[in-house]
Amino acid sequence: DLARAHAQLAAAHRRLAEKAARDDMTGMLNRESFFAALDGSRRKADRGALLIIDADHFKAINDRFGHLTGDEALLLIAAAIRRGVRSADVLGRIGGEEFCAFLAGADEVEARHVAERIRREVELIRFRPVDERTVPLTVSIGGTTCGFGATVSELMRSADRKLYEAKHGGLNLAIVDRDFSAAA
Ligand code: GH3
Ligand code: MG
Ligand code: MG
Repeated sequence: DLARAHAQLAAAHRRLAEKAARDDMTGMLNRESFFAALDGSRRKADRGALLIIDADHFKAINDRFGHLTGDEALLLIAAAIRRGVRSADVLGRIGGEEFCAFLAGADEVEARHVAERIRREVELIRFRPVDERTVPLTVSIGGTTCGFGATVSELMRSADRKLYEAKHGGLNLAIVDRDFSAAA
């Protein structure tokens, strides 16, 4: 009947919207949805921490093994990130080899733990694209806690500065700082 058809249509619509919000490759939120979620949590002034996770020297993986094998490496990295976070945390793929995590309710100490766990989970991946050789995969992570007044762009800037420090500190590093852009 009509009510049943209506319910089916509504369910199909929900499934489509859910699918459109996600990155096809990793199943994480896509860039747009991640920032929308982050913006929502900022409006509610939710406490937490923001991490940016960027694969190290990823261009070299593609150059050595090809783009398809690069995709396999990215999937392994995405799975490792998932193992590193807690169930309430929100994950997004915000760029090709760049991910973000919003750690709900986490303070600086907790955020450092989670960031370090992600870094380690990636380091532990045994990626064997050819024969028996293991090719190391690593990520660098920059993070910040979310001060009450901080906007999404301020948080991204703070986390990005820390990511830059991690990249220049020798890669395979996680650096998380307190947010100083607004009263925390
Ligand atoms: P850095 O340690 O400074 O981050 O070096 P990088 O090589 O990771 O950084 P760069 O931004 O120069 O290159 C990113 C590379 O990631 C280049 C691009 O081809 C690759 N990449 C981005 N998205 C994908 C993807 O979906 N699949 C594959 N296979 N490669 C991707
Ligand atoms: Mg990179
Ligand atoms: Mg990058």
